[in-house]
Amino acid sequence: MSLFAPLLCDSFGKEENEMDKKLKTTIATVAALVLVGGGIFFGVTSAKKGEKCRYCGKYWPHGEIMGHQIRCDKNKESMSFRK
Ligand SMILES: [Zn+2]
Repeated sequence: MSLFAPLLCDSFGKEENEMDKKLKTTIATVAALVLVGGGIFFGVTSAKKGEKCRYCGKYWPHGEIMGHQIRCDKNKESMSFRK
């Protein structure tokens, strides 16, 4: 019975709740950091990779994708438009 006494004690219960709160806050913070970090990582990776050409499927820098898609060899719409 004396072994379970601390579990029934009010102050112990409060302390445990406080720890639980801190743990939850820590987990939430870590999760938020992972999400933000992952978002930045994904953004940087996709920015480096560039954008996929919808005609030939190759990746081009963001600044060139628009110009490339117009001139792309696989872009038949634009080819017939030029004739
Ligand atoms: Zn292309």
